Amino acid sequence: MNLKQRDKQSLWHPYTQHQTAVDPLPIINGNGAYLIDEQAKHYLDMTSSWWVNLHGHSHPAIAKAIYEQALQLEHVIFANFTHEPAIQLAEQILAVTPSNLTKLFYSDNGSTAVEVALKMTYQYWRNRDETKRQRFIAFNGGYHGDTFGSMSLSKKCGFFTAFEPLFFPVETFNYPATWINDHNVLAKEAHCLAELEEYLEQYGAETAAIIIEPLIQGVSGMSMCREKFLQHLEDIVRQYGVLIIYDEVMTGFGRTGELFACLKAQTKPDIICVAKGITGGFLPLAATLCSDAIYNEFLGDGFDRALAHGHSYAANPLGCAAGLASLKLLLEDTTQLQLQTIAEVHAEQLPQLLQHCETKIENIRQCGTIAAFDLKTNIQYGSPISQKLQHDCQERGLLIRPLGKTVYLLPPYCVSADELIGTYNILSNLLAL
Ligand SMILES: *Cc1c(COP(=O)(O)O)cnc(C)c1O
Repeated sequence: MNLKQRDKQSLWHPYTQHQTAVDPLPIINGNGAYLIDEQAKHYLDMTSSWWVNLHGHSHPAIAKAIYEQALQLEHVIFANFTHEPAIQLAEQILAVTPSNLTKLFYSDNGSTAVEVALKMTYQYWRNRDETKRQRFIAFNGGYHGDTFGSMSLSKKCGFFTAFEPLFFPVETFNYPATWINDHNVLAKEAHCLAELEEYLEQYGAETAAIIIEPLIQGVSGMSMCREKFLQHLEDIVRQYGVLIIYDEVMTGFGRTGELFACLKAQTKPDIICVAKGITGGFLPLAATLCSDAIYNEFLGDGFDRALAHGHSYAANPLGCAAGLASLKLLLEDTTQLQLQTIAEVHAEQLPQLLQHCETKIENIRQCGTIAAFDLKTNIQYGSPISQKLQHDCQERGLLIRPLGKTVYLLPPYCVSADELIGTYNILSNLLAL
């Protein structure tokens, strides 16, 4: 039996309708921005493998760091024990995030990083004897993970209808999604903020926290908002003492052109959640960063004030070693230049693509290294045009994975300007057909 047949016999894949899905593509190697199949065909990975990869596949510096760490210490329980890689990575991440964030809690994926943020904010108010504060606010289209707490916060992302009866109540508001030459953006923002303010006037004193994917809602279709919106949001929410959680699981580690979206927006959330890119895409690791004000509320004589949360692989030394190697690469001048180059190529190519395919696409938008546009179709999910585009790109050695009618490019930072321009040429040719 070949790999596809053996896969079919034993495996159930994430987010897949197995009755209609095409067979998964077996990948044998990764090298730089490319994935390589059994026939040695190369595919340019324009999704960074579900948004986790930063510096290219099988990067030798990260592979070496993991190998060396594995020979020294592969894992140790993180309650009552600690180790250098965990400490060093926390120090280094805290050093490049807003100064109000002073403590870092490790978990192992984006959903758990959000669960930790939820539990931190909920219990923070409980520990302060402000037990009225139980409400949570999120955004329509927001996606925060696949566990029950994070799914409740994501109830308007469109995927979780089957589980809705089990969710705790969450209030949601419109995300003022915008694009290049959007003349309506100020009105959308004003409307959202007015509705939020109205809600907070009534329920602000009962609200524990608000969670948002800053600058870009990933899963719902690379919906982008302005930095100004995040600033106004912060001003309003602060007046009601509500804690602000940034879910930077996708936006973190350079995707927006800055290391973190909060730095780009010059805002100071109380908590940020990071995962995906934290190890450069090598190993599952995540972190929830918070302020001393939050951390200190969990101090006390008894365990009842402590945070009852911990995963067996929390702060896994291999993940932390990968994280350190990846962060070192990310901060190098050459990588920072690459972030700029990618942003420049997008800024130049996206409007040209629109001009060339005006009857087929709309709403071009960009934030740092991420570019996106919508196909003109009325079908949101499983539209034949986006499926055909994905298939035709794959035949040409280009991996894209449209989210509904949204096509996006989210390359690893090692992609060259020529490879990126080549990507736009392929899209332009296919869309103009
Ligand atoms: C992917 C994602 C998550 C969930 O992360 P997992 O590691 O897949 O659990 C949470 N929030 C955002 C914004 C994400 O993009």
